[in-house]
Amino acid sequence: MDLGLHDKVAAVAAASSGLGKASALELAREGARVAICGRNEARLRQAAEDIRQATGSEVLPIVADVTDPEEARRFIEQTAEHWGRLDIVVTNAGGPPAGLFEDFDEKDWLDAFNLNFLSTQRLIKAALPHLKKAGSGRIIAITSVSAKQVLDNLVLSNAVRAGVHGLIKTLAQELGPYNITVNAVCPGPILTERLIALFRRNAEAQGITFEEAQAAWVRQIPLGRLGKPEEFGPVVAFLASERASFINGVLLQVDGGMVKAVM
Ligand code: NAD
Repeated sequence: MDLGLHDKVAAVAAASSGLGKASALELAREGARVAICGRNEARLRQAAEDIRQATGSEVLPIVADVTDPEEARRFIEQTAEHWGRLDIVVTNAGGPPAGLFEDFDEKDWLDAFNLNFLSTQRLIKAALPHLKKAGSGRIIAITSVSAKQVLDNLVLSNAVRAGVHGLIKTLAQELGPYNITVNAVCPGPILTERLIALFRRNAEAQGITFEEAQAAWVRQIPLGRLGKPEEFGPVVAFLASERASFINGVLLQVDGGMVKAVM
């Protein structure tokens, strides 16, 4: 299937590693011109080089922290300026710290809101004039299954990401008339640095081994294993594609069947 991404330009946030990088890689593999952002220049350049080598596509690395409004805006503007257009924006950031409700104060909540909600909002806001100008667009937010089924010890993620889903569903209504689709992809446990850090923290907090902490997550997944980033990137690429032109307002889990709710 030709995804129809050859003439498209994509901006993928927080893509030095993990799910953002996997998404950028797959978009580049399908022929899109891709810009990526991250905070650490050396890691970001290495990610761009990895994607270039794997796909033969040129990748534009732009150092930007999505928690900073000006840097997030600059990432989008420089992408559109460099390639002369923008068709696809993939919003992403790191995850908030793990912990229980009583572990966190006002600043922790503001930081989590900035990291996962406001970053999404500001990347979309900056991209919107360019998507409208292109006459069509794809907005894909990387969120979490925690917005569908709360996860133990992850109150910040559980609460803030539900707000992101509210934003995505609203924008699917508001931006549909502009031929812009707005969807979220909700990862379940997929083996990245983030998940390894969560296993370590759970192991320490519960006095169990890393392997036991990992096994406790795997038990919740009907497929009986963790996901791999290369099983996530193609889902983002598909939603970004011409072939997904009638999919709008979907909050799609990529979780091996972990979420049990009917919705
Ligand atoms: P990760 O922590 O492994 O990688 C995140 C990447 O984003 C890193 O390259 C990091 O440097 C970059 N980054 C972090 N903060 C940034 C910022 N402020 N500005 C720019 N770049 C930034 O995370 P991941 O596993 O790739 O997950 C991506 C998102 O999906 C996170 O929000 C995470 O919480 C969420 N998620 C992941 C999983 C999973 O199992 N991997 C499950 C559910 C939700």
